[in-house]
Amino acid sequence: KPETIDVLTIGAGGGAYPAAFWLAKRAQRVVMVDPKGVMSGNCLAEGCVPSKAVREMARHVTRHRRFESYGMGGEPTIDYRKIIAHKDNVQRSRYLQHGEELARSRNIELIKGRASLQDPHTVTVETDAGDRRYTVRHIIVASGADVFVPSIPGAELCLTSSDLYRLNPTVKVLPQTLTVIGGGYIGVETASFYAALGVHVTVLQRGRQLLSGMDPDMVAMLVPLLDPRIRVMFEIDVDRIEQGVHGMTVHYRQGDFSGKELSDQVLIAAGRRPVLPEGLAALDIEAGHTGIAVNGALQTSHPHIYACGDVNGRVPLFHAAVRESLVAAHNIMAGDVAADTMDFTNVPTTVFTLPAAAYVGMTRTAAAQRGVAVVEAGYEFLEDSRAQIFGETGGGLRLFFEPRSLRLIGGWVVGIDAGNLIGEIGLACANGLTAQQLAAFADQHPMTSEGIGHAARSLL
Ligand code: ADP
Repeated sequence: KPETIDVLTIGAGGGAYPAAFWLAKRAQRVVMVDPKGVMSGNCLAEGCVPSKAVREMARHVTRHRRFESYGMGGEPTIDYRKIIAHKDNVQRSRYLQHGEELARSRNIELIKGRASLQDPHTVTVETDAGDRRYTVRHIIVASGADVFVPSIPGAELCLTSSDLYRLNPTVKVLPQTLTVIGGGYIGVETASFYAALGVHVTVLQRGRQLLSGMDPDMVAMLVPLLDPRIRVMFEIDVDRIEQGVHGMTVHYRQGDFSGKELSDQVLIAAGRRPVLPEGLAALDIEAGHTGIAVNGALQTSHPHIYACGDVNGRVPLFHAAVRESLVAAHNIMAGDVAADTMDFTNVPTTVFTLPAAAYVGMTRTAAAQRGVAVVEAGYEFLEDSRAQIFGETGGGLRLFFEPRSLRLIGGWVVGIDAGNLIGEIGLACANGLTAQQLAAFADQHPMTSEGIGHAARSLL
């Protein structure tokens, strides 16, 4: 006999649990379902958190090397097993923290299992102890996305980001050489961390630009700042991958030329694809390979069925999922009407390379593509006190304003503190602040955020 509940979330990651907690606090009976049996989804399992644990260790190594000229630092000893142990510890302690949070909450249950949709108000959950059936008033589909492995012969011999970043990962010893197939953010970030740790990395990119789809001006500023141990080859079509006695061989074509790249290991970073739960199609919920179609209220074609996070393919980032989840929760409480809507445009994105590149809103290139005029203001880290203190003066920031109102509509940052600065810039964009307002704010000294006010004042 089915159990009747208010809300069921398919998945327990960033697209699911913020809504689950918010609704449970308002006396809704909520069930979260996830085959992992823990909260946080892929972000904590093999994504943002563990990769940044490795990143910050690698960043420390780069600073350590640079401080050699001040009589400190020099070539550090790198024990990758310890770096992995640190990463694993961060993951474990966060799982513990989430477990305690869940144990403290009423009206909410997490079930280890796989959910599928039976009809618009019935969900079955396959668990180790058998199937369970729920009659639900609202559903949040938040089944996330997974590594996409293209069907190239030998792809199964390659590593994926999961082999690097999950708990107790496959890779515990650094290779001397690594080939990365794919020059998107996961490939370039990993190339950057590994290069900092002393690995020689070759990135094979299909197109003519690393980080395709991102602002070319931002990418052009980033690329010369990347570790020289990273070599990038463009317009590469990988044919097959082979395992030999001395390592791996990637066979590729570059125009009319056929070549091969030899390395100890190969990482495939060819993107991610939404994970669609079973039963969607039968409910006529529109979903393609980019994800489930949603409106600004996060509703699918059924107003009581929401799709939040990576599964809708809009902004595949954890923090976007969190905000979407809360939008869905607000709309569920309002009776499945659009009481709250998602701003998909002003979500900050950071590529956590060393140094990082980050952007938000509409940049100059995006504006030009849409025939929109912008006014640009810039600031270089060469003149920034904090950047000088760290000796990290490469890069800078760009802000883009609407011509007449001077309302901030976008920006990007390359270099020191990029991931933090884009937060302030994004908040200003999301709230329609103008150059005058940014100029009138006493940005802290000696911090890189001074660059924001500095750039804004250059227009007045
Ligand atoms: P997001 O940040 O978009 O929520 P995540 O990938 O972090 O995405 O989390 C999605 C979670 O959904 C993953 O932990 C995954 O195991 C889970 N999941 C995928 N398919 C199902 C399913 N059919 N039933 C329940 N959970 C699922």
